[in-house]
Amino acid sequence: MNLLTFDIEEWALAKARGYGSAAKYAEYDGYLARILDILDERGFKGTFFCTGMMAETFPEVVRLIHGRGHEVGCHSHRHDWLNRMTEAEAREDTRAAVDALEQCIGQKIKSYRAPAFTIGKSNKWAFEILAQSGITRDASVYPAERDFGGFENFGQKKPCLVEYNGIKLKEFPVCTAKVLGKETAYSGGGFFRFFPLGFVKKQMSGCDYTMSYFHIWDLIPESRGLLPKETFESYYKTPGTFKNRVVRYFKSNLGKKRAFDKMMRLIATESFVNLEQADRMTDWEQAPSVTL
Ligand SMILES: [Zn+2]
Repeated sequence: MNLLTFDIEEWALAKARGYGSAAKYAEYDGYLARILDILDERGFKGTFFCTGMMAETFPEVVRLIHGRGHEVGCHSHRHDWLNRMTEAEAREDTRAAVDALEQCIGQKIKSYRAPAFTIGKSNKWAFEILAQSGITRDASVYPAERDFGGFENFGQKKPCLVEYNGIKLKEFPVCTAKVLGKETAYSGGGFFRFFPLGFVKKQMSGCDYTMSYFHIWDLIPESRGLLPKETFESYYKTPGTFKNRVVRYFKSNLGKKRAFDKMMRLIATESFVNLEQADRMTDWEQAPSVTL
């Protein structure tokens, strides 16, 4: 099974960072409409992980997604990275996000993805917070080495049960492929922009389980320039030197020109399900368990 997920935060972050405008929000609305239309045409349901701030400041966007029959999951409250929070801050962030989203759509939120997959060895307690917040399905595990978070010895490449300190969560990890000797993601974020579509499809056809993950603003050209020093530092929690901001800018903009159309071609030619459907399709009695 191929899972299809989207992370939705761009409207609220554009507003919070001061470059939001009616034209900008309409642009995001337009891309979202194209995604919802192709999913209807293909008969697929996706999981859309939305931030709590989206539910508070752009509730119509979250309700539109929900109203078209897709699963709304939680993508933190403000899109701050979990590995940069204390346990108490992460607990408060998750509570605020789940409350806002549940109030917005009038339904329980069951699925979660951390911003930038920032649950790793240093903050395993995040799983406990998720379970205590009513989350039963998580999609935050990057089962390889990476800059932020990551579990390089996770050992599973398919749906599994994560056990930590007495709690259990159904985990849907990112799928990876071995490229130049290194396990790496390929069907989401900058990796999806980097690899040719043929490569992505070939990897997908050879696997029983894959996980695609997209942010609209990862896929479209945006003439935003460098992030201001203060914004950069408050988000990435690293010095906002000119060099750091330029490197981040190029990483975030590589291959953007045709990326959205590339994603649309992927959706048009492969079959997908969301986390809710994948949960029902999985025999959890037989699923492997990973104790962290
Ligand atoms: Zn995100």
